[in-house]
Amino acid sequence: MAVNQLAKAINTTCAYCGVGCGISARVVDPELHLVEISGREDHPANYGRLCSKGSALGETVSLDGRLLYPKVHGRQVVWSEALDQVASRLQETIEQYGPDSVAIYGSGQLLTEDYYVANKLMKGFIGSANMDTNSRLCMASTVAGQKRAFGSDTVPNTYQDLELANLLVLVGSNTAWCHPVLFQRIRAMKEQRPDMKVVVIDPRRTETCDLADLHLVIKPGADVLLFNGLLVWLADQGALDQDYIEQHCQGFDQALEAARASVGDIQQLAYACGVEQNELIQFYHWFCTTDKTVTAWSQGVNQSAAGTDKVNAMINCHLATGRIGRPGSGPLSLTGQPNAMGGREVGGLANQLAAHMEFTPDDIARVGRFWQAANMAQSPGKTAVDLFKSMDRGEIRFVWIMGTNPVVSLPDSHRVIKALKKCTTVVVSDCIEHTDTAEFADILLPAAPWSEKDGTVTNSERRISRQRALFPTAGEARPDWWMISEVAGRLGFAEAFNYSGSADIFREHAALSGYENNREGKVRDFTIAPLADITDSEYDGLEPFQWPLSAVQGDGSGALSDTQPVISTTASKARFFKDGGFFTGNGRANFIATDVLRPLNAPGKSYPLLLNTGRVRDHWHTMTRTGLSARLNQHTDEPFLAIHPTDAESYQLRDQALCQISSEFGKAAVRVQVSEAQRPGEVFMPMHWTRQHSETGFSGVLVNPVLDPVSKQPDLKYTPVAVEPYHTERYGVLITRERVAFGDIGYMTEVRIENGYRYEMAGSNLDQLSLFSRLKSYQKVEFTDNTVGERRVAWFSDAQLQAIWVSGQAISSCDRQWLQSWFCQTASIEEAWWVLSGKPPRGEDAGRQVCACFGVGEKTICRAIAEHGLTDPVQVGSHLQAGTNCGSCIPEIRGLIKRG
Ligand code: SF4
Repeated sequence: MAVNQLAKAINTTCAYCGVGCGISARVVDPELHLVEISGREDHPANYGRLCSKGSALGETVSLDGRLLYPKVHGRQVVWSEALDQVASRLQETIEQYGPDSVAIYGSGQLLTEDYYVANKLMKGFIGSANMDTNSRLCMASTVAGQKRAFGSDTVPNTYQDLELANLLVLVGSNTAWCHPVLFQRIRAMKEQRPDMKVVVIDPRRTETCDLADLHLVIKPGADVLLFNGLLVWLADQGALDQDYIEQHCQGFDQALEAARASVGDIQQLAYACGVEQNELIQFYHWFCTTDKTVTAWSQGVNQSAAGTDKVNAMINCHLATGRIGRPGSGPLSLTGQPNAMGGREVGGLANQLAAHMEFTPDDIARVGRFWQAANMAQSPGKTAVDLFKSMDRGEIRFVWIMGTNPVVSLPDSHRVIKALKKCTTVVVSDCIEHTDTAEFADILLPAAPWSEKDGTVTNSERRISRQRALFPTAGEARPDWWMISEVAGRLGFAEAFNYSGSADIFREHAALSGYENNREGKVRDFTIAPLADITDSEYDGLEPFQWPLSAVQGDGSGALSDTQPVISTTASKARFFKDGGFFTGNGRANFIATDVLRPLNAPGKSYPLLLNTGRVRDHWHTMTRTGLSARLNQHTDEPFLAIHPTDAESYQLRDQALCQISSEFGKAAVRVQVSEAQRPGEVFMPMHWTRQHSETGFSGVLVNPVLDPVSKQPDLKYTPVAVEPYHTERYGVLITRERVAFGDIGYMTEVRIENGYRYEMAGSNLDQLSLFSRLKSYQKVEFTDNTVGERRVAWFSDAQLQAIWVSGQAISSCDRQWLQSWFCQTASIEEAWWVLSGKPPRGEDAGRQVCACFGVGEKTICRAIAEHGLTDPVQVGSHLQAGTNCGSCIPEIRGLIKRG
């Protein structure tokens, strides 16, 4: 074994959210894929901080579950055969049905270089714009809103502004869980400057409210109304920046008139928004009187049928006060994925061309000239939901899905499955072999994952960072750009796709960003042109920088601020639009008149509750990576439905029991979580679980495919549903060293634990699992607890528990964490009786994990709070270490202290 304790640290970027934290990775053992992860001190996104997910990246780089070889119809093949198959099927489909019969569906997990090549192949050489991405589900509404207002998809501000603001408004964003390092930065600043105000606008009371001076518990979908009301309030209070409006904007009167028409008086407005009138006035007053104000938003805004209007309603208020692109002032979108922004830069969305160009005749010709592409797509292609609907109608007959899991993440999953079954050729390139989408692949291509691939990503503040390989590619895995280029070569485009590495692609991308930019007074916002000639070694050593990147100090489109040298003669610009300079043709920003629309699907008699979906703290997307970490699985170990206590009572749901949820589109079954954090009439379900981890627990089957009419982003947060108790004969808990196949069991969720798996089950015939016959060779100890009607069995061999099985007519109250800890220890058969008693001896019961870094449970924290009279998270940290590393659990610790 080659143990390398002195290995050099490799600077790379986190695989998960759009914060884009810098990581320092030290490979301890390349053969065993052992790597130490820490936050990179000099990365401007995180300055050394990481959250629980980023800290655990080292636990997700094993070869467990990896797709390592190309496969055609399940048969392992060599690369040349797989690529020949992809190319010939692509060619045949195009010849027979035309270029619009094929599509690529990409991902914000792709590196910019992968995205660039995929987009070039589709839009430049195949001649169709059917190239969309799961970023459509993430921030398409922000793209559309920014383009309407600024004439370009430009993020005007920067993370530093979150710290410089005196008023920070977080809209539809559980920052504490979804952008945790930004939340840590905000918390640190609020501790330094307690006068800094934080307002959270969210229908749920999330962990982010831990910092809030004011939480507006808004009705879902009322954001446009609330910000229209703010625009009117600003006008009526004389808080407008008339100079900025007159010099740099247009359309203000129409926007104000539309806002006024929609809001009524303050009492009506507060009622319509579902918030207390005095709280609404307080927010409006703070906004009016605080010059340094940042409004930051995330999926609660974007994933909505009115997402684009929500974005514009907020931007209107910033334009009206001239609070944009200034230190501590401006609108700031927080993107979900690590490279959603990079995808936008290279035209990853079906309605864009590369380098922030559009489907205008000039731009089409320009990109065609640059690529020397004779077959440029002439109009936008199909966007995510429509792309799969087209497939279902038989119009799209070939799809290549790259690094994403649309069966789980798109709304109306049943229709997505139907479409994939109908599609003649489904190619999936992924690093994981078994996903809900890979099941439908004709051709599987092994992609290099984070830790084995090399390129660039862009975070939410336009900062481009290198993602670097830590290990050589495993098996036959290859980067996505390589596969796409190989296929392009087989289609006859070898010359245009003759890349020797990601640096080659990056140089071309940089050159295109500067190509005919600033010609005849027409400037594009996105440029990194000075990097078009960097050498391979300069690319290897590229330090994080923000675009736009100019060759000289000062680029004529606004004063440079916070310049940061990247290579000797270049400078990047941190903020846009302080002095106007919008990309609208005449340089003026557009105010957008936003109206309030009725939802297409509203709760009614059959489906009386409103379903919201979202993220939990320690999981990422469809769990293909975080699901591998035992530590990350302990915080939220099962899919759940959060429901207000009065609704729970009305629908006879008990906390921790199982419930069935149904919508017009499908059914799911999950654990009940009764929670005061929910508004009555609204329920919440996480988006992460798939059929690989839970037979019944994924939300995509329920969600309605309603789209924002402008951005085409699906509304994942507004689906009418019904709930009822889940009826079953028996419940079981199984802890085992081997994975169990999901059979015909009513409810089953798999939880990865240290050295094994835990299964929560419900159904009939649970005691007949085929696993039990395989365990026959082990020593077995069995006990029936008649007081609770529970059968408990433990199998032993080699001084180790091999499996534990608990079953009964009710859900077992056995402490799961404690059983799991037994499972990891050496144990004798005499000690089996402890296990079979179902509960730990006094004091050992840790409860649900709260602190992922140090494995500290809820009950341990509560005991320490009670025994030592602890009154703040710092004291808890000094007793138990909990919360002293990444800090992601601090809001929950504070919640436990408050609960007493
Ligand atoms: S906040 Fe967490 S998940 Fe997001 S980039 Fe940073 S470490 Fe990764």
